[in-house]
Amino acid sequence: MNFELTEEQLAVQQAAREFAQSELLPGVIERDETQTFPLEQVKKMGELGFLGMMVDPKYNGGGMDTVSYVLAMEEISKIDASASVCMSVNNSLVCWGIEKYGTEEQKQKYLKPLATGEKIGAFCLSEPEAGSDATSQQTTAEDKGDYYLLNGTKNWITNGNTASIYLVIAQTDREKGHKGINCLIVEKGMDGFVVGKKENKLGIRGSDTHSLMFTDVKVPKENRIGDDGFGFKFAMSTLNGGRIGIASQALGIASGAYELALAYSKERKAFGKPISQHQAIQFKLADMATEIEAARLLCLKAAHLKDQKKDFGKASAMAKLFASKVAMDTTIEAVQIHGGYGYVKEYHVERLMRDAKITQIYEGTSEIQKIVISRELLK
Ligand SMILES: Cc1cc2nc3c(=O)[nH]c(=O)nc-3n(C[C@H](O)[C@H](O)[C@H](O)COP(=O)(O)OP(=O)(O)OC[C@H]3O[C@@H](n4cnc5c(N)ncnc54)[C@H](O)[C@@H]3O)c2cc1C
Repeated sequence: MNFELTEEQLAVQQAAREFAQSELLPGVIERDETQTFPLEQVKKMGELGFLGMMVDPKYNGGGMDTVSYVLAMEEISKIDASASVCMSVNNSLVCWGIEKYGTEEQKQKYLKPLATGEKIGAFCLSEPEAGSDATSQQTTAEDKGDYYLLNGTKNWITNGNTASIYLVIAQTDREKGHKGINCLIVEKGMDGFVVGKKENKLGIRGSDTHSLMFTDVKVPKENRIGDDGFGFKFAMSTLNGGRIGIASQALGIASGAYELALAYSKERKAFGKPISQHQAIQFKLADMATEIEAARLLCLKAAHLKDQKKDFGKASAMAKLFASKVAMDTTIEAVQIHGGYGYVKEYHVERLMRDAKITQIYEGTSEIQKIVISRELLK
């Protein structure tokens, strides 16, 4: 077992840290307040290779391993979780899904611009009546010979308006249940496709979350990913990988809050000494650091298993379950260590606390992660 990072991995981590500090930190409070998507910053992320990190270089990707992706996600998420969720969806749901299961034509047409960030992707599974229970899809993709006729509504779609390439899950044959579901690549601008309202959220307020409406959208047959009826398996498989991204996002939110709390505790004085000299604060810091390290190891283990082409479903669910709880617990304590200053925007920790919550909800709630894990345990 080797806990050392390679030089290349350390370089990726350093590049992400510098990018986050120089490009994402300025304006992050204002973007949160005004719910502004970090468009310019995401463009730069694409130029630096953060949006197609694991994609094969022959499709314009970075050809990096999943461990490097975890390291970069942590650094970006320390500063701006709204930017990092865009990065996570583009990398581990959309690019990975098309690269693993798409046809060569789909890779040439869609993966190449996604990997550079020239185009942004979205993953569209959730619906008003289908969240945790993703099998109850109401969106339909009727087989019309050489195209599918897509009808329905998707909810809560990250990158909803910024994206131009959408992976849409829909029911083709209801009698076949989840084996009658397909995943179609839908392009913005197709007739009958409308982007709905932007959600006004508790956290990740810079992220672009929208509902999407499809009315008689004609999607060519060649835009289906995999064989007829593969859509549900496709969604579950990509979400396994996506959870490594969200677990790393949670890890970054936690470690960002911890670093702020650590620094603040050395500056702020109470009762004649820095608050870091009070044992109650020291114990909080010790708990935070220990839990963050455990979350980091779970994220890296899941990434390592994926890189080794081993089964990583249980590991990624464990990483997400644990890291998201650590994100919530750590950010609450970081606010506490900041006292009143933690409750106002300038000190960043209140935003991180609000951002942390979503990591326990999207790409499978914590309850769903427990179902995934226990199913594996009881196999
Ligand atoms: C900001 C944001 C961004 C999102 N981005 C995307 C996206 O890009 N693409 C996408 O497809 N979706 C996205 N989602 C949707 C997200 O994945 C769902 O909200 C999530 O899966 C939960 O579904 P739900 O909201 O319908 O909750 P429900 O499924 O209604 O769950 C409600 C509660 O019941 C619990 N529950 C449900 N079933 C069980 C069970 N069997 N056992 C125990 N407890 C259970 C849940 O854990 C939860 O606590 C996003 C959501 C948000 C808020």
